[in-house]
Parts: sequence; C-alpha cells; structure tokens
Amino acid sequence: MTHYLAQEVHCPLCQGASKPHLEKKGADGKVFSVYRCTRCTLWHLHPLPKDAELFSLYQSNYFKARSDRGYSDYTSKKVEASVVQTLQKNLTDLNFFKWELALHEKSLLEVGCAAGHAVGYFAARGWETEGIDIAEEMVDRGRARGLNLIAADFLPFDFGEKKFSLITHWATLEHLPNARLFLAKMAELLLPEGRIYLSTCNTGLFAKIRGVDWRYLNVPEHVYYFNKKSLTRLAKSSGLSIVRSFSYGSGFTTRENASWGYKLIKRIADTLARYFLWGDMVVVELRKAYYP
Ligand SMILES: [Zn+2]
Repeated sequence: MTHYLAQEVHCPLCQGASKPHLEKKGADGKVFSVYRCTRCTLWHLHPLPKDAELFSLYQSNYFKARSDRGYSDYTSKKVEASVVQTLQKNLTDLNFFKWELALHEKSLLEVGCAAGHAVGYFAARGWETEGIDIAEEMVDRGRARGLNLIAADFLPFDFGEKKFSLITHWATLEHLPNARLFLAKMAELLLPEGRIYLSTCNTGLFAKIRGVDWRYLNVPEHVYYFNKKSLTRLAKSSGLSIVRSFSYGSGFTTRENASWGYKLIKRIADTLARYFLWGDMVVVELRKAYYP
C-alpha cells in the first residue's frame, strides 16, 4: 500500500526532481510521504503542511504534553541544564569563545528561542540579546524571567534598522516549510562580519541505515531533512556560505551502567559521526558569502 501522490515532484529547495523515499505514520496514524531530491539530496514531506496546521502544533501542547516527540516539560530546570550543556558543547566546537573575545559589539538574535534557555546563557555573558518564537506560552515563561523575547512570526516581523553580530537557529530549520525565506531574512539581519550558527537533523549514514526507524524522522513536525550538501545549496541561495561544519549523535545514547563493549562502540560511532558527517545532527557556521 502506497500513499505517494506522484512518482516525481519538484524539490521545494532547488526545484530538482524528487522521488518517493519512504513513508511514515504520524502520531495520529496518518501516513506521510517523504521524498528525496535527486539533485540536492534534501528529504522533504510532500505535500508540505500548511502554516496554520504547524502553528497550532507549536502552541502550548508541544512543549508539555507530547513527551514522545515534543518536550515533556521544556521549562523545567532539567531541560534547561541539558539545553545549556549542548549549547556550550556546540559553541566550543564552533570556536565561539575565541571569536567572542575579539568582538566589540555583542548582539544576539535567536530565531526559534522557545522559553529562551540559550538567550539567557548569552545574556549572562553580557550580550545584548533578543529571541523570537511563535510559541506564545513559552515566550511568556522566558519573559517572566526577564529575558528579552518576542512572541511573533519571524518572517513578517520588522526589526527596523537593527543588525546582529550573531544569529542562532538551533534545531528549528527542519520544522519550517519556508526554510529558504528564514535563512534569507537571517542573512539580511546579519552585520557584515557576523555569524549564523545553525543546527538541524542530518541525513547522514546513521539516518540512512535506520531508515523509517530513524529517531528524527518525526512527521509531520519535521518537514525537511538536510545534510551538508543541501544546506550548502540553501546557504548559497541566501548569499551565505558554510565556513565550518560538524555532526554529532550516533544514536547510541548515554546509558548508566553500560558495558565496556557498549561504551567502546558508542565512542567509535560518535567519533566517526563527527568526522565523516555521519551523525544525526549537523551544526554549521555561516557567514556572508563575500566575507573572507
Ligand atoms: Zn533539491
């Protein structure tokens, strides 16, 4: 039984030819079709969900009740600590701390900030910070802690003349049918020497091996599944280029009391994931294309 609407559709990113790749059931039992572009290698849902469907998905329930796919309680101290831990690890790998030392203007915009855990981290380091997200309840929780967050849709939002030295976009791009417009707007808001840090799930080797059982194949929340090749093409169309990239996550989770054999395999798999971009997440640093 197949649900594919067509044997070939246009890739929403590069207009190349996309072919049926796999099918998966969403939480409510509805089957979604994932196509793969033969040109840029993007995996994408077809048809793409409408904005209204997605908007309702990210209101209060996503961050509280949907523990299997969203967050069991995004505002808890435990989740905050884990968000900050991943953030610090990524910042180290992105060579952020060295760059930060030499910066004069430290202004951050986080696009898709949720309750602002990462925004709070930068604010505590003395950065001028701003976060934006459509999830109103999350934004309210962050604002109650004194964070500078806006509950609004990023694309139509008017930032005036404001530009930022750093724009971050963590694990959000895969949720956005308008990913191209998001990246183009981030490029416009960037100071000439500014940087964009972006992470998203990665169709690396481990994703390919696991196929339909891959842990990040969350339909219909994740509408796009990138890798470095498709991200490079997307960046280029927004006047940006990738200057640094790495991946992490082999799918071997940290287990207490794991056997030495498991620990060894995990260590090897994590190392390979990182250096060969095989991992489940990819992190990139983008700069304006003309910047050396
Ligand atoms: Zn494509």
